[in-house]
Amino acid sequence: MQEVKNRATRYIELEERYGAHNYHPLPVVLSRGQGVYLWDVEGKRYYDFLSAYSAVNQGHCHPRLVKALSQQAERLTLTSRAFYNDQLGPYEAFLTRFFGYDKLLPMNTGAEAVETAIKICRKWGYEKKQIPEDEALIVVCGQNFHGRTVTIISFSSDPDAKGHFGPYTPGFLSIPYGDLAAFRQILEERAEQIAGFLVEPIQGEAGVVVPPKNFIPEAAKLCRQHNVLFIADEIQTGIGRTGSLLAVCGNCTCEGSCERGSTYIKPDMLLLGKALSGGMYPVSAVLADEPVMEVITPGTHGSTYGGNPLACAVAVEALQIIEDEHLPQNARKLGKIFREYMQKLVDQYPQWLKGIRGKGLLNALLINDSPDSKTAWNICLQLAENGLLAKPTHGNIIRFAPPLIISEEQVLDCCHIIEKTISSFKQK
Ligand SMILES: *Cc1c(COP(=O)(O)O)cnc(C)c1O
Repeated sequence: MQEVKNRATRYIELEERYGAHNYHPLPVVLSRGQGVYLWDVEGKRYYDFLSAYSAVNQGHCHPRLVKALSQQAERLTLTSRAFYNDQLGPYEAFLTRFFGYDKLLPMNTGAEAVETAIKICRKWGYEKKQIPEDEALIVVCGQNFHGRTVTIISFSSDPDAKGHFGPYTPGFLSIPYGDLAAFRQILEERAEQIAGFLVEPIQGEAGVVVPPKNFIPEAAKLCRQHNVLFIADEIQTGIGRTGSLLAVCGNCTCEGSCERGSTYIKPDMLLLGKALSGGMYPVSAVLADEPVMEVITPGTHGSTYGGNPLACAVAVEALQIIEDEHLPQNARKLGKIFREYMQKLVDQYPQWLKGIRGKGLLNALLINDSPDSKTAWNICLQLAENGLLAKPTHGNIIRFAPPLIISEEQVLDCCHIIEKTISSFKQK
């Protein structure tokens, strides 16, 4: 037993010693994943309730994704965009049809998709909206999370993410998330300078903050009225996570059976990443229609790995799985069951729990303690001990986001683990 324990400790010590300390992981060392489960180096099994920040919606090592990845890896992995390859075109045709856009620009990480959208938006502002050079503005929301590059953290309100990384990129205005009046006012004052509105339909990193129901549709309408691009960052919320293919169609009445609802307003730019590759490989994309995407011409933007054959093969399969396994519908149905169960726990254990919120299988349990307290962290340690992996965000919020392939029986099993943990929880 001692020997096994030392193995985990050794991996942790290696990361501590040789890695930059840009994360604060739970002390669990994982070595295998399948479906909703992860196993640590000691062979202990856990439910994954983070899903790599919603990248693994299809479950770990989905056999179809493993096959798509390994088959393509044996044929061709990278050509660069100096030449055509036989995967990119079919991928672009498939994705644009899947999401209803004219064009796609392929990138790798989420932050790159956001950066790409900012560039397209500014260029569109100058060339199409005739904004005077260097005066374009993009409106963002407080408590946003869009990635970690210098430009993106320039409009972050998180002091850890932003502090001492200046000088910052100018050209961004912030409104409180969900505040339509503030958005209306800013548009009335400076619409001729505003090129875009960049928003998360639900703020994931902020702690699964769901805006008022009419915020996204109304904000999108205001964008239309003022000739401002409505840019939806669905890197975390998209691809089934919130109970519909995209969170921007989350207010619809189709019960997740399609991607178009009555209140759906198509974003002028749609940003995807994370689950676009089901955890296999970094793949991100910006989707837009021709009048927007045409501002991009040869030499204006690119990426060595963007649109590589391996990424394309994996992403097509990853989306096909979402459709074939009805994962948005599953997320919608099981999310309701999960929140109902959690609400009962909130009512029963008000000394630890303050509330449950979320949509589909993107949910957060609010811990009844200050953001500086160790309570949420200690609950997560205890959850891990009991076989469920989750991580606090902003100190006192625990996000629960299992792979969307989870079954009702497994969700209930997890509810029992959470109940057992909370009911026996003692402050250290
Ligand atoms: C994770 C995330 C990103 C950044 O994606 P990376 O792949 O980590 O660069 C951007 N926007 C949102 C909403 C995210 O959740």
